[in-house]
Amino acid sequence: MMAAPTPPPADPLKQSVQYLTGVGPTRLEQLRRLGIETVGDLLFHLPRSYEDLTDVRRVAELTAGTVQTVHGEIVEIEGRRLADGRCVVSVVLSDGKDCLEGVWFNQVYASSRFRYGQRVAFSGKPKRYQGHWQMANPRVTVLEERRQPPPSPQPLSSEGRGALAAPLAPGGGGVGVRGTTPAPRDDGDDARVLPVYPLTEDLRAEQLRPIIQRAVAQFAVKVSEILPPELRRRNGWPDVAQALRDLHMPETLPAALTARRRFIYEEFLILQVALAVRRRELRDRLRAPILIVSRQMDAHIRRLFPFRLTEDQDRAVADICRDLASDRPMQRLLQADVGAGKTAVAVYALLATVANKHQAVLMAPTEVLAQQHWQTLEGYLAQSRVRRLLLTGALSPRERRDALEAIRLGHVDLVVGTQALVQNEVQFARLGLVVIDEQHKFGVNQRAQVRRLGVDPHYLVMTATPIPRTVALTVFGDLDVSIIRQLPPGRQPVTTRWLTEAQRERLYGRLREELRRGRQAYVVCPLVSESAVLDLKTAVQTHEQLQAGPFRDFRVGLLHGSLDDQVKDATMTAFRRHEIDILVSTSVIEVGVDVPNATLMVIEHAERFGLSQLHQLRGRVSRGEIAGQCYLFADPTSEEARERLRILTRTADGFVLAEQDARLRGVGELFGTRQHGLGELRFGDLIADGEILRQARRDAFALVAEDAGLRQPEHAALRRLVLERYGKTLDLAAIG
Ligand code: ADP
Ligand code: MG
Repeated sequence: MMAAPTPPPADPLKQSVQYLTGVGPTRLEQLRRLGIETVGDLLFHLPRSYEDLTDVRRVAELTAGTVQTVHGEIVEIEGRRLADGRCVVSVVLSDGKDCLEGVWFNQVYASSRFRYGQRVAFSGKPKRYQGHWQMANPRVTVLEERRQPPPSPQPLSSEGRGALAAPLAPGGGGVGVRGTTPAPRDDGDDARVLPVYPLTEDLRAEQLRPIIQRAVAQFAVKVSEILPPELRRRNGWPDVAQALRDLHMPETLPAALTARRRFIYEEFLILQVALAVRRRELRDRLRAPILIVSRQMDAHIRRLFPFRLTEDQDRAVADICRDLASDRPMQRLLQADVGAGKTAVAVYALLATVANKHQAVLMAPTEVLAQQHWQTLEGYLAQSRVRRLLLTGALSPRERRDALEAIRLGHVDLVVGTQALVQNEVQFARLGLVVIDEQHKFGVNQRAQVRRLGVDPHYLVMTATPIPRTVALTVFGDLDVSIIRQLPPGRQPVTTRWLTEAQRERLYGRLREELRRGRQAYVVCPLVSESAVLDLKTAVQTHEQLQAGPFRDFRVGLLHGSLDDQVKDATMTAFRRHEIDILVSTSVIEVGVDVPNATLMVIEHAERFGLSQLHQLRGRVSRGEIAGQCYLFADPTSEEARERLRILTRTADGFVLAEQDARLRGVGELFGTRQHGLGELRFGDLIADGEILRQARRDAFALVAEDAGLRQPEHAALRRLVLERYGKTLDLAAIG
């Protein structure tokens, strides 16, 4: 492990912004609230968007929605008071043919800057209002001073002149507004493409822009270039100083957007180089046992499954066998849609390892899942002599001591347990393979800990939730990926319906019928304990109600996170054995639970779950040959939430859903880089900027393949930043 290097103290980018002209204590505080402390922060304060004032049109050519600019002559200025007491200043601009009205609300002095006959430009988003074009609060640029004197000022006229409806024609008799104070807004900026920055309250764009512009003028040339010339040329990016100018003071919109892409690319490149270096390190530094799967072993393992592997499963198995046959540890991510059969592939890998006289361990995130995997294995291994052991919290101290001893002495081949137990307590005699189930719960840095189990085993990591490709390339970016998309043959896709409260009684009737036919059902609720505020249906309450009411003739069980592990196990086992008909539960059943006879699911308050989570949940009822049915009750409060539920009823493909979910909710919330220990991305968005990400990844991996230690002089700046940002998290010793 190495510490991030401290930057040379003279680095001007690390200087506090307080030494800049125009930054006093108040500004300093405002900037700090935007996350800007240093000159570097300021230079890399990325505009959210741009107002393109170069899109100059005639009034007749205006369209709604984007910022446009109209040049014209002022033909009317007036102020009125509206019925609600607000005052509105209206200034009409004529392009010689048609008129555009600019309006300002509650800015009594807004009109004082205008003169009849003055030539000005209005920039803003136009909209149709009462048959003419209007811009609210347009940006104003004075093109030429007035050509005729203004009429004498008159007091505010009262409401009801109907000025906006009819007299948009040029004409005298306009009304000035009292007051001599200058307009509050200073648009005296002659930039034609204006960056729009994220702001805080009380810091206006007009105040921030000059600060940034001065910083760019003074410091842009001092920023060291990260991108090697070759990459810059190939992608057509400007150098860093030019790019900073284009970012903050662009001549044209395309120049601004190119600069923006460059910095997004740069951010991705640094991250991907870090991941590439880490991957190389895992390969070069570590040595794993060579495990060769003979034909005989292969046939033997396959005979244990009561089914034939699907093509996708076969492909994943082939990937794994290739990895195991190398003395470089396998670092592979196995991604599968729900129910596509990851477990079988994992079992194959475990048994292949054992057949090679090495130990293998399967780690699950929860006791329930560890139990379930254990039972799956027991099913497959009924006739086998593989020495196996389930390591759970339920063992007595003595049993546990014996178990650990047996593993340490190599008397056990195959261990199943929760991650917590295995990681903290177990020492292996000859560990060959670690399989980590449902890895989406922990990040790159946690994985680093898992790696330190003693020797260097092969790693197979499985995710429960399909995640978008570009996200996987990042949060699992140091791993190779195998994907299982295809569901086993004969599997019926689950049908999903969104019901109204009025349909509840009918649904319960149908459920009773199905249960009488021998099926089982899940009822999933979002929270455990009662919350008066949210008044959510809790699992506990629902359990009581269902057992006492509509399902009094059936066995209703309850499963939630705050129950004892033993109680949870017992309940799951009872459900699996069909001693329970309906299992009311929180989302603890979300990951991996597999009871093929359970074909029905009701989800309460579906709006409280994420799309991927809902997909994962309903995956529990499409395990067998019978088509699963999933019913949602939901009370979405936003259009976005409604859209999420609609998508769910339409699409069965988990990868498509994941992509859409990320688009709707933003990547951050779901699988942001932060949750995975990779820090916040400042510029790039893993989904929206997916193309740039792919390019950066290709370039990063090629670069590291050529210069693994980043020793070439043109990689020095890049190396410094990679270490500064990721050296610690990713344990990048090789380039340190
Ligand atoms: P997941 O990828 O969600 O973990 P599982 O590995 O739990 O999926 O498999 C889901 C179900 O599909 C299990 O009941 C398993 O027995 C079954 N299954 C897996 N592979 C096949 C296959 N090739 N043919 C038929 N059934 C399969
Ligand atoms: Mg599973």
